[in-house]
Amino acid sequence: MVSGPDSRLVQTAVVGGPNSGRAIILPTDADELLRWRRSHRAGAYWCGTQLGGCGNELSDRLYRDKVCHFAHRPHTSCHRTATGANSADHLFVKDDLAAWTGSLGIKGRATSRDLGSGPGDVVDFRAGNGGRQYVRFQFSKLSHAEWAGARDRLTREAATLDWVFGPSTVQPETMEELYDEYGYLLRFRFETHGTARHIRLRAENPGNSTDWVPLRVCAMTSEGLRVPGAEPRCRTFRSRPRDAAAPRSGDEQVRALREALISAARFRTRPTWEALCRSAGGDLLGVSPQDRVHLLIAVEQAGGEGTPLLSALLRTGEGEPPPYVGQVVAAAGGGTPATAQVLKRWCQREADRAFAVHGMPSRTAPARLALTSDGRIAAQRAEPSTRRTIVHVEARASLLEVTPLHEALRGARERQDRRLAVGLLEQAEDSIVTLPKPERGRLARELRETRDWLNSEVKKHKRKRRRLVNPEERGRAKRRGGTLGDARPLPGVGKQSKKGKR
Ligand SMILES: [Zn+2]
Repeated sequence: MVSGPDSRLVQTAVVGGPNSGRAIILPTDADELLRWRRSHRAGAYWCGTQLGGCGNELSDRLYRDKVCHFAHRPHTSCHRTATGANSADHLFVKDDLAAWTGSLGIKGRATSRDLGSGPGDVVDFRAGNGGRQYVRFQFSKLSHAEWAGARDRLTREAATLDWVFGPSTVQPETMEELYDEYGYLLRFRFETHGTARHIRLRAENPGNSTDWVPLRVCAMTSEGLRVPGAEPRCRTFRSRPRDAAAPRSGDEQVRALREALISAARFRTRPTWEALCRSAGGDLLGVSPQDRVHLLIAVEQAGGEGTPLLSALLRTGEGEPPPYVGQVVAAAGGGTPATAQVLKRWCQREADRAFAVHGMPSRTAPARLALTSDGRIAAQRAEPSTRRTIVHVEARASLLEVTPLHEALRGARERQDRRLAVGLLEQAEDSIVTLPKPERGRLARELRETRDWLNSEVKKHKRKRRRLVNPEERGRAKRRGGTLGDARPLPGVGKQSKKGKR
Protein backbone atom coordinates (compact mmCIF):
# COMPACT_ATOMS: atom_id res chain seq x y z
CA MET A 1 0.00 0.00 0.00
CA VAL A 2 1.42 3.32 -1.02
CA SER A 3 -0.06 6.31 0.77
CA GLY A 4 1.52 9.69 0.67
CA PRO A 5 4.76 10.09 -1.25
CA ASP A 6 6.09 6.77 -2.57
CA SER A 7 9.47 6.38 -0.95
CA ARG A 8 10.26 2.93 -2.30
CA LEU A 9 13.12 2.85 -4.78
CA VAL A 10 11.25 1.53 -7.79
CA GLN A 11 13.97 1.34 -10.39
CA THR A 12 12.26 -0.48 -13.24
CA ALA A 13 9.07 0.05 -15.18
CA VAL A 14 7.56 -0.79 -18.54
CA VAL A 15 6.67 1.51 -21.40
CA GLY A 16 3.83 1.18 -23.91
CA GLY A 17 1.10 0.10 -21.49
CA PRO A 18 0.56 -1.64 -18.16
CA ASN A 19 0.84 -5.14 -19.67
CA SER A 20 3.80 -4.35 -21.89
CA GLY A 21 6.95 -6.46 -21.83
CA ARG A 22 9.18 -3.52 -22.80
CA ALA A 23 11.15 -2.77 -19.68
CA ILE A 24 13.30 0.18 -18.79
CA ILE A 25 15.58 0.86 -15.89
CA LEU A 26 15.65 4.45 -14.78
CA PRO A 27 19.06 6.14 -14.85
CA THR A 28 20.01 6.64 -11.22
CA ASP A 29 22.13 9.70 -11.94
CA ALA A 30 20.37 13.08 -12.32
CA ASP A 31 22.34 14.17 -15.42
CA GLU A 32 21.74 10.86 -17.11
CA LEU A 33 18.05 11.13 -16.35
CA LEU A 34 17.95 14.62 -17.84
CA ARG A 35 19.61 13.33 -21.00
CA TRP A 36 17.12 10.49 -21.12
CA ARG A 37 14.18 12.85 -20.72
CA ARG A 38 15.51 15.08 -23.52
CA SER A 39 16.01 12.20 -25.93
CA HIS A 40 12.59 10.64 -25.30
CA ARG A 41 9.27 12.30 -25.60
CA ALA A 42 7.67 12.75 -22.23
CA GLY A 43 6.64 9.14 -22.09
CA ALA A 44 4.54 7.31 -19.64
CA TYR A 45 5.82 4.47 -17.47
CA TRP A 46 3.80 1.75 -15.87
CA CYS A 47 4.28 -0.43 -12.85
CA GLY A 48 4.06 -3.35 -15.28
CA THR A 49 1.98 -6.43 -14.59
CA GLN A 50 4.81 -8.51 -16.07
CA LEU A 51 6.98 -7.12 -13.29
CA GLY A 52 4.47 -8.30 -10.72
CA GLY A 53 3.27 -4.70 -10.45
CA CYS A 54 -0.09 -3.00 -10.01
CA GLY A 55 -0.37 -1.71 -13.58
CA ASN A 56 -0.65 1.92 -12.45
CA GLU A 57 1.26 4.74 -14.03
CA LEU A 58 4.56 5.77 -12.49
CA SER A 59 6.41 9.06 -12.64
CA ASP A 60 10.14 9.52 -12.59
CA ARG A 61 11.70 11.48 -9.77
CA LEU A 62 14.87 13.37 -10.36
CA TYR A 63 17.11 13.95 -7.36
CA ARG A 64 20.52 15.58 -7.12
CA ASP A 65 21.27 14.29 -3.65
CA LYS A 66 20.02 10.73 -3.97
CA VAL A 67 19.23 8.02 -6.47
CA CYS A 68 16.57 8.86 -9.05
CA HIS A 69 13.68 6.46 -9.11
CA PHE A 70 10.13 5.86 -10.20
CA ALA A 71 7.26 6.62 -7.90
CA HIS A 72 3.61 5.67 -7.66
CA ARG A 73 0.99 8.34 -7.34
CA PRO A 74 -0.22 8.84 -3.79
CA HIS A 75 -2.92 6.46 -2.55
CA THR A 76 -1.98 3.73 -4.99
CA SER A 77 -2.30 0.18 -3.83
CA CYS A 78 0.68 -1.88 -4.99
CA HIS A 79 1.97 -5.24 -3.81
CA ARG A 80 4.92 -5.52 -6.15
CA THR A 81 7.77 -7.19 -4.26
CA ALA A 82 10.71 -6.79 -6.64
CA THR A 83 11.51 -3.18 -7.46
CA GLY A 84 15.32 -3.06 -7.63
CA ALA A 85 17.66 -2.65 -10.55
CA ASN A 86 17.46 -6.36 -11.43
CA SER A 87 13.66 -6.62 -11.17
CA ALA A 88 13.07 -6.47 -14.94
CA ASP A 89 15.91 -8.78 -16.01
CA HIS A 90 13.46 -11.52 -17.01
CA LEU A 91 12.05 -9.06 -19.56
CA PHE A 92 15.42 -7.73 -20.69
CA VAL A 93 16.64 -11.26 -21.43
CA LYS A 94 13.82 -11.66 -23.92
CA ASP A 95 15.08 -8.63 -25.85
CA ASP A 96 18.57 -10.13 -25.93
CA LEU A 97 17.18 -13.49 -27.03
CA ALA A 98 15.14 -11.88 -29.81
CA ALA A 99 18.18 -9.97 -31.09
CA TRP A 100 20.29 -13.12 -30.88
CA THR A 101 17.91 -15.41 -32.76
CA GLY A 102 17.45 -12.64 -35.33
CA SER A 103 21.18 -12.45 -35.95
CA LEU A 104 21.49 -16.25 -36.11
CA GLY A 105 18.50 -16.51 -38.39
CA ILE A 106 16.84 -19.12 -36.18
CA LYS A 107 13.38 -19.27 -34.70
CA GLY A 108 12.94 -19.23 -30.98
CA ARG A 109 10.35 -18.37 -28.37
CA ALA A 110 10.96 -17.06 -24.87
CA THR A 111 8.37 -17.38 -22.10
CA SER A 112 8.67 -16.17 -18.54
CA ARG A 113 7.15 -18.36 -15.86
CA ASP A 114 5.96 -17.78 -12.35
CA LEU A 115 6.94 -20.80 -10.28
CA GLY A 116 5.61 -19.33 -7.08
CA SER A 117 7.75 -16.35 -6.18
CA GLY A 118 7.01 -13.95 -9.03
CA PRO A 119 6.44 -13.55 -12.76
CA GLY A 120 10.14 -13.83 -13.52
CA ASP A 121 11.14 -17.04 -11.73
CA VAL A 122 12.41 -18.59 -14.95
CA VAL A 123 12.54 -17.70 -18.61
CA ASP A 124 12.26 -20.66 -20.95
CA PHE A 125 13.70 -20.35 -24.41
CA ARG A 126 12.69 -22.94 -26.99
CA ALA A 127 14.38 -23.22 -30.34
CA GLY A 128 15.43 -25.76 -32.92
CA ASN A 129 13.57 -28.60 -34.48
CA GLY A 130 9.96 -28.30 -33.33
CA GLY A 131 11.06 -26.11 -30.40
CA ARG A 132 12.66 -29.11 -28.68
CA GLN A 133 15.92 -27.40 -27.81
CA TYR A 134 15.41 -25.89 -24.36
CA VAL A 135 17.38 -23.27 -22.55
CA ARG A 136 16.13 -22.38 -19.07
CA PHE A 137 17.27 -19.14 -17.44
CA GLN A 138 16.90 -19.57 -13.70
CA PHE A 139 16.18 -16.31 -11.87
CA SER A 140 14.77 -17.64 -8.59
CA LYS A 141 16.48 -19.80 -6.02
CA LEU A 142 16.04 -23.51 -6.61
CA SER A 143 16.49 -26.41 -4.19
CA HIS A 144 18.40 -29.41 -5.42
CA ALA A 145 15.29 -31.58 -5.31
CA GLU A 146 13.29 -29.03 -7.31
CA TRP A 147 16.06 -28.82 -9.85
CA ALA A 148 16.37 -32.60 -10.16
CA GLY A 149 12.61 -32.99 -10.56
CA ALA A 150 12.34 -30.26 -13.19
CA ARG A 151 15.43 -31.55 -14.96
CA ASP A 152 13.95 -35.05 -15.22
CA ARG A 153 10.66 -33.69 -16.53
CA LEU A 154 12.21 -31.31 -19.06
CA THR A 155 14.69 -33.93 -20.26
CA ARG A 156 11.80 -36.17 -21.25
CA GLU A 157 10.38 -33.46 -23.54
CA ALA A 158 13.56 -31.86 -24.79
CA ALA A 159 16.12 -32.83 -27.39
CA THR A 160 18.69 -30.68 -25.58
CA LEU A 161 18.44 -28.90 -22.24
CA ASP A 162 20.75 -26.17 -20.97
CA TRP A 163 20.19 -24.58 -17.61
CA VAL A 164 21.66 -21.12 -17.06
CA PHE A 165 21.69 -20.00 -13.43
CA GLY A 166 21.44 -16.47 -12.12
CA PRO A 167 23.24 -15.19 -9.02
CA SER A 168 22.51 -17.20 -5.82
CA THR A 169 20.02 -19.54 -7.44
CA VAL A 170 21.86 -22.86 -7.43
CA GLN A 171 22.63 -25.29 -4.58
CA PRO A 172 26.02 -26.96 -4.06
CA GLU A 173 24.54 -30.40 -4.79
CA THR A 174 23.22 -29.21 -8.12
CA MET A 175 26.56 -27.63 -8.96
CA GLU A 176 28.39 -30.85 -8.19
CA GLU A 177 26.06 -32.85 -10.37
CA LEU A 178 26.47 -30.46 -13.28
CA TYR A 179 30.26 -30.31 -12.96
CA ASP A 180 30.26 -34.06 -12.88
CA GLU A 181 28.09 -34.41 -15.94
CA TYR A 182 29.21 -31.58 -18.21
CA GLY A 183 32.42 -30.35 -16.62
CA TYR A 184 30.86 -26.93 -15.98
CA LEU A 185 27.81 -24.98 -14.99
CA LEU A 186 26.32 -22.12 -17.05
CA ARG A 187 25.81 -18.80 -15.29
CA PHE A 188 24.34 -15.46 -16.20
CA ARG A 189 24.51 -11.96 -14.85
CA PHE A 190 23.23 -8.63 -16.17
CA GLU A 191 24.98 -5.36 -16.92
CA THR A 192 23.26 -1.99 -17.14
CA HIS A 193 23.67 -0.04 -20.37
CA GLY A 194 21.74 3.21 -20.29
CA THR A 195 18.10 2.35 -19.66
CA ALA A 196 18.46 -1.31 -20.61
CA ARG A 197 20.21 -4.30 -19.11
CA HIS A 198 21.96 -7.03 -21.08
CA ILE A 199 22.77 -10.58 -20.19
CA ARG A 200 26.31 -11.96 -19.95
CA LEU A 201 27.03 -15.67 -19.77
CA ARG A 202 29.92 -17.84 -18.79
CA ALA A 203 30.73 -21.47 -18.09
CA GLU A 204 32.00 -22.04 -14.54
CA ASN A 205 33.77 -24.77 -12.75
CA PRO A 206 35.86 -24.66 -9.59
CA GLY A 207 39.08 -24.80 -11.60
CA ASN A 208 38.52 -22.23 -14.28
CA SER A 209 35.69 -20.29 -15.77
CA THR A 210 35.33 -18.69 -19.15
CA ASP A 211 35.00 -14.92 -19.55
CA TRP A 212 31.61 -13.26 -19.25
CA VAL A 213 30.35 -12.84 -22.81
CA PRO A 214 27.23 -11.36 -24.42
CA LEU A 215 24.65 -13.73 -25.85
CA ARG A 216 25.48 -12.69 -29.41
CA VAL A 217 28.83 -14.53 -29.35
CA CYS A 218 27.22 -17.76 -28.09
CA ALA A 219 26.06 -20.45 -30.47
CA MET A 220 23.02 -22.69 -30.63
CA THR A 221 24.23 -26.05 -31.94
CA SER A 222 22.46 -29.37 -32.33
CA GLU A 223 23.98 -30.19 -28.92
CA GLY A 224 22.55 -27.09 -27.30
CA LEU A 225 23.80 -23.71 -26.12
CA ARG A 226 27.56 -23.15 -26.50
CA VAL A 227 29.53 -20.50 -24.64
CA PRO A 228 32.90 -19.76 -26.28
CA GLY A 229 35.75 -21.55 -24.57
CA ALA A 230 33.63 -24.21 -22.86
CA GLU A 231 33.99 -27.73 -24.18
CA PRO A 232 31.24 -29.94 -22.84
CA ARG A 233 32.30 -33.28 -21.52
CA CYS A 234 30.95 -36.18 -23.53
CA ARG A 235 27.36 -36.35 -22.40
CA THR A 236 26.20 -39.50 -20.74
CA PHE A 237 22.98 -41.34 -21.27
CA ARG A 238 21.95 -40.35 -17.79
CA SER A 239 20.35 -37.10 -18.79
CA ARG A 240 20.40 -37.18 -22.55
CA PRO A 241 18.84 -40.39 -23.69
CA ARG A 242 18.45 -39.07 -27.22
CA ASP A 243 22.12 -38.23 -27.46
CA ALA A 244 23.27 -41.68 -26.49
CA ALA A 245 25.39 -43.30 -29.16
CA ALA A 246 23.38 -46.51 -29.11
CA PRO A 247 20.33 -47.46 -27.08
CA ARG A 248 21.05 -50.05 -24.42
CA SER A 249 19.78 -53.55 -24.76
CA GLY A 250 17.20 -54.92 -22.35
CA ASP A 251 19.89 -57.09 -20.75
CA GLU A 252 22.06 -54.05 -20.10
CA GLN A 253 19.13 -52.22 -18.55
CA VAL A 254 18.35 -55.19 -16.31
CA ARG A 255 21.97 -55.42 -15.19
CA ALA A 256 22.10 -51.69 -14.43
CA LEU A 257 18.83 -51.85 -12.48
CA ARG A 258 20.02 -54.81 -10.46
CA GLU A 259 23.30 -53.13 -9.59
CA ALA A 260 21.54 -49.90 -8.61
CA LEU A 261 19.09 -51.80 -6.38
CA ILE A 262 21.87 -53.74 -4.67
CA SER A 263 23.72 -50.49 -4.09
CA ALA A 264 20.55 -49.02 -2.54
CA ALA A 265 20.22 -52.07 -0.28
CA ARG A 266 23.80 -51.72 0.85
CA PHE A 267 23.00 -48.24 2.14
CA ARG A 268 19.66 -49.33 3.60
CA THR A 269 17.83 -46.97 1.26
CA ARG A 270 14.59 -47.38 -0.63
CA PRO A 271 14.68 -45.37 -3.86
CA THR A 272 11.88 -44.07 -6.02
CA TRP A 273 11.98 -45.18 -9.64
CA GLU A 274 13.27 -41.71 -10.57
CA ALA A 275 16.05 -41.86 -8.00
CA LEU A 276 16.95 -45.35 -9.17
CA CYS A 277 17.23 -44.10 -12.74
CA ARG A 278 19.80 -41.54 -11.67
CA SER A 279 22.21 -44.40 -11.14
CA ALA A 280 20.72 -47.05 -13.44
CA GLY A 281 20.35 -44.76 -16.44
CA GLY A 282 18.08 -41.95 -17.59
CA ASP A 283 16.83 -44.02 -20.50
CA LEU A 284 14.74 -45.92 -17.93
CA LEU A 285 12.89 -42.82 -16.75
CA GLY A 286 10.17 -42.93 -19.35
CA VAL A 287 9.56 -46.67 -19.09
CA SER A 288 5.87 -47.46 -18.50
CA PRO A 289 4.81 -49.29 -15.31
CA GLN A 290 4.05 -52.41 -17.37
CA ASP A 291 7.53 -52.41 -18.90
CA ARG A 292 9.02 -51.78 -15.47
CA VAL A 293 7.37 -55.00 -14.34
CA HIS A 294 9.05 -56.95 -17.16
CA LEU A 295 12.44 -55.44 -16.39
CA LEU A 296 12.08 -56.04 -12.66
CA ILE A 297 11.02 -59.65 -13.15
CA ALA A 298 14.23 -60.15 -15.12
CA VAL A 299 16.16 -58.42 -12.32
CA GLU A 300 14.71 -60.90 -9.80
CA GLN A 301 15.38 -63.92 -12.03
CA ALA A 302 19.05 -62.98 -12.07
CA GLY A 303 19.09 -63.25 -8.28
CA GLY A 304 18.23 -66.90 -7.88
CA GLU A 305 15.87 -68.65 -5.52
CA GLY A 306 15.52 -67.52 -1.93
CA THR A 307 17.32 -64.21 -2.40
CA PRO A 308 15.51 -61.06 -1.31
CA LEU A 309 13.21 -59.48 -3.87
CA LEU A 310 15.11 -56.29 -4.75
CA SER A 311 12.03 -54.69 -6.34
CA ALA A 312 10.53 -54.51 -2.85
CA LEU A 313 12.95 -51.65 -2.16
CA LEU A 314 11.13 -49.39 -4.60
CA ARG A 315 8.83 -46.78 -3.17
CA THR A 316 6.71 -43.87 -4.37
CA GLY A 317 7.31 -40.27 -3.29
CA GLU A 318 4.86 -40.96 -0.45
CA GLY A 319 6.90 -43.91 0.78
CA GLU A 320 4.47 -46.62 -0.40
CA PRO A 321 5.43 -49.53 -2.65
CA PRO A 322 4.38 -48.69 -6.24
CA PRO A 323 1.33 -50.85 -7.11
CA TYR A 324 3.13 -52.55 -10.01
CA VAL A 325 5.59 -54.14 -7.55
CA GLY A 326 2.71 -56.46 -6.61
CA GLN A 327 2.98 -58.06 -10.05
CA VAL A 328 6.69 -58.64 -9.56
CA VAL A 329 6.02 -60.27 -6.18
CA ALA A 330 3.51 -62.62 -7.82
CA ALA A 331 5.79 -63.44 -10.75
CA ALA A 332 8.61 -64.25 -8.34
CA GLY A 333 6.41 -66.74 -6.53
CA GLY A 334 5.80 -64.61 -3.45
CA GLY A 335 2.02 -64.80 -3.81
CA THR A 336 -0.52 -62.15 -4.72
CA PRO A 337 -0.91 -59.46 -2.05
CA ALA A 338 -4.63 -58.79 -1.59
CA THR A 339 -4.35 -55.14 -0.58
CA ALA A 340 -1.93 -52.22 -0.69
CA GLN A 341 -1.46 -52.69 3.05
CA VAL A 342 -0.41 -56.32 2.62
CA LEU A 343 1.94 -55.35 -0.19
CA LYS A 344 3.44 -52.67 2.03
CA ARG A 345 4.10 -55.05 4.93
CA TRP A 346 5.45 -57.70 2.61
CA CYS A 347 7.80 -55.23 0.95
CA GLN A 348 8.99 -53.83 4.28
CA ARG A 349 10.03 -57.31 5.39
CA GLU A 350 11.63 -57.99 2.03
CA ALA A 351 13.51 -54.69 2.19
CA ASP A 352 14.82 -55.71 5.64
CA ARG A 353 15.95 -58.98 4.08
CA ALA A 354 17.73 -57.11 1.29
CA PHE A 355 19.41 -54.80 3.84
CA ALA A 356 20.54 -57.86 5.79
CA VAL A 357 21.94 -59.67 2.79
CA HIS A 358 23.53 -56.79 0.92
CA GLY A 359 24.46 -54.58 3.88
CA MET A 360 28.02 -54.52 5.07
CA PRO A 361 28.66 -56.57 7.02
CA SER A 362 25.87 -58.89 5.97
CA ARG A 363 23.74 -60.50 8.64
CA THR A 364 21.25 -63.27 8.78
CA ALA A 365 18.12 -62.25 6.95
CA PRO A 366 14.71 -62.66 8.55
CA ALA A 367 12.32 -65.03 6.80
CA ARG A 368 10.20 -63.87 3.90
CA LEU A 369 6.58 -63.20 4.83
CA ALA A 370 4.36 -66.00 3.57
CA LEU A 371 1.06 -65.06 1.96
CA THR A 372 -2.08 -67.18 2.07
CA SER A 373 -3.77 -68.21 -1.15
CA ASP A 374 -6.19 -65.29 -0.80
CA GLY A 375 -3.33 -62.83 -0.49
CA ARG A 376 -3.25 -62.26 3.28
CA ILE A 377 -0.21 -62.47 5.47
CA ALA A 378 -0.01 -66.01 6.82
CA ALA A 379 0.12 -66.58 10.59
CA GLN A 380 3.67 -66.33 11.78
CA ARG A 381 5.32 -69.56 12.80
CA ALA A 382 8.71 -69.91 14.29
CA GLU A 383 10.78 -70.43 11.20
CA PRO A 384 13.09 -73.40 11.28
CA SER A 385 16.56 -72.01 11.01
CA THR A 386 17.31 -74.11 7.96
CA ARG A 387 14.79 -72.14 5.96
CA ARG A 388 16.50 -68.84 6.52
CA THR A 389 18.53 -67.29 3.83
CA ILE A 390 22.07 -66.81 4.95
CA VAL A 391 24.31 -65.09 2.55
CA HIS A 392 27.94 -64.54 3.24
CA VAL A 393 29.52 -61.61 1.60
CA GLU A 394 33.24 -61.11 1.76
CA ALA A 395 34.19 -58.37 4.11
CA ARG A 396 35.72 -55.59 2.13
CA ALA A 397 38.19 -53.07 3.30
CA SER A 398 36.50 -49.80 2.52
CA LEU A 399 35.18 -47.93 5.51
CA LEU A 400 32.34 -46.53 3.41
CA GLU A 401 30.79 -49.86 2.77
CA VAL A 402 30.41 -50.92 6.36
CA THR A 403 28.99 -47.78 7.93
CA PRO A 404 25.42 -46.61 8.13
CA LEU A 405 24.63 -43.47 6.18
CA HIS A 406 24.75 -41.00 9.06
CA GLU A 407 28.21 -42.20 10.00
CA ALA A 408 29.33 -42.18 6.37
CA LEU A 409 28.19 -38.55 6.12
CA ARG A 410 30.18 -37.59 9.20
CA GLY A 411 33.19 -39.46 7.82
CA ALA A 412 32.94 -37.63 4.51
CA ARG A 413 32.96 -34.31 6.37
CA GLU A 414 35.87 -35.28 8.55
CA ARG A 415 37.87 -36.29 5.53
CA GLN A 416 36.76 -33.14 3.66
CA ASP A 417 35.47 -35.26 0.81
CA ARG A 418 32.89 -32.99 -0.78
CA ARG A 419 32.03 -35.21 -3.70
CA LEU A 420 31.36 -38.16 -1.47
CA ALA A 421 29.31 -35.97 0.85
CA VAL A 422 27.18 -34.82 -2.07
CA GLY A 423 26.62 -38.38 -3.23
CA LEU A 424 25.70 -39.52 0.25
CA LEU A 425 23.35 -36.58 0.73
CA GLU A 426 21.34 -37.69 -2.24
CA GLN A 427 21.13 -41.23 -0.91
CA ALA A 428 20.18 -39.92 2.51
CA GLU A 429 17.46 -37.62 1.21
CA ASP A 430 15.98 -40.48 -0.74
CA SER A 431 16.02 -42.88 2.17
CA ILE A 432 15.22 -40.80 5.21
CA VAL A 433 11.47 -41.28 5.02
CA THR A 434 11.85 -45.04 5.13
CA LEU A 435 13.96 -45.18 8.27
CA PRO A 436 12.69 -45.99 11.74
CA LYS A 437 12.41 -42.97 14.05
CA PRO A 438 15.68 -43.03 16.00
CA GLU A 439 17.72 -43.60 12.85
CA ARG A 440 15.78 -40.92 11.04
CA GLY A 441 16.66 -38.36 13.73
CA ARG A 442 20.34 -39.25 13.59
CA LEU A 443 20.39 -39.02 9.81
CA ALA A 444 18.45 -35.73 9.77
CA ARG A 445 21.07 -34.19 12.10
CA GLU A 446 23.91 -35.36 9.89
CA LEU A 447 22.09 -34.13 6.77
CA ARG A 448 21.81 -30.65 8.26
CA GLU A 449 25.43 -30.59 9.37
CA THR A 450 26.63 -31.82 6.01
CA ARG A 451 24.57 -29.29 4.06
CA ASP A 452 25.89 -26.47 6.23
CA TRP A 453 29.40 -27.75 5.76
CA LEU A 454 29.02 -27.98 1.98
CA ASN A 455 27.60 -24.46 1.85
CA SER A 456 30.51 -23.08 3.84
CA GLU A 457 32.91 -25.06 1.65
CA VAL A 458 31.41 -23.52 -1.47
CA LYS A 459 31.99 -20.05 -0.04
CA LYS A 460 35.53 -20.99 0.85
CA HIS A 461 36.04 -22.39 -2.62
CA LYS A 462 35.09 -19.10 -4.15
CA ARG A 463 37.71 -17.35 -2.05
CA LYS A 464 40.53 -19.80 -2.58
CA ARG A 465 39.51 -21.33 -5.83
CA ARG A 466 42.99 -21.66 -7.31
CA ARG A 467 44.56 -23.23 -4.30
CA LEU A 468 42.03 -25.96 -3.92
CA VAL A 469 42.23 -27.19 -7.44
CA ASN A 470 45.08 -29.50 -7.43
CA PRO A 471 44.54 -31.81 -10.39
CA GLU A 472 45.57 -34.90 -8.49
CA GLU A 473 43.17 -34.09 -5.68
CA ARG A 474 40.33 -33.66 -8.16
CA GLY A 475 41.14 -36.92 -9.86
CA ARG A 476 40.98 -38.78 -6.60
CA ALA A 477 37.81 -37.06 -5.57
CA LYS A 478 36.26 -37.96 -8.88
CA ARG A 479 37.05 -41.63 -8.51
CA ARG A 480 35.70 -41.74 -5.00
CA GLY A 481 32.66 -39.65 -5.83
CA GLY A 482 31.95 -41.75 -8.90
CA THR A 483 31.56 -44.78 -6.72
CA LEU A 484 28.80 -43.39 -4.62
CA GLY A 485 27.59 -40.16 -6.10
CA ASP A 486 26.58 -41.97 -9.23
CA ALA A 487 25.90 -45.18 -7.35
CA ARG A 488 28.05 -47.06 -9.76
CA PRO A 489 28.54 -50.60 -8.54
CA LEU A 490 31.46 -51.12 -6.25
CA PRO A 491 34.01 -53.66 -7.31
CA GLY A 492 32.62 -57.12 -6.88
CA VAL A 493 29.08 -56.10 -6.11
CA GLY A 494 26.50 -57.91 -8.15
CA LYS A 495 28.89 -60.67 -9.10
CA GLN A 496 27.32 -63.89 -8.05
CA SER A 497 30.70 -65.53 -7.61
CA LYS A 498 31.33 -63.42 -4.53
CA LYS A 499 28.30 -64.76 -2.74
CA GLY A 500 27.42 -68.24 -1.69
CA LYS A 501 23.75 -68.87 -1.31
CA ARG A 502 22.39 -70.66 1.68
ZN1 LIG B 1 2.80 -0.68 -8.56
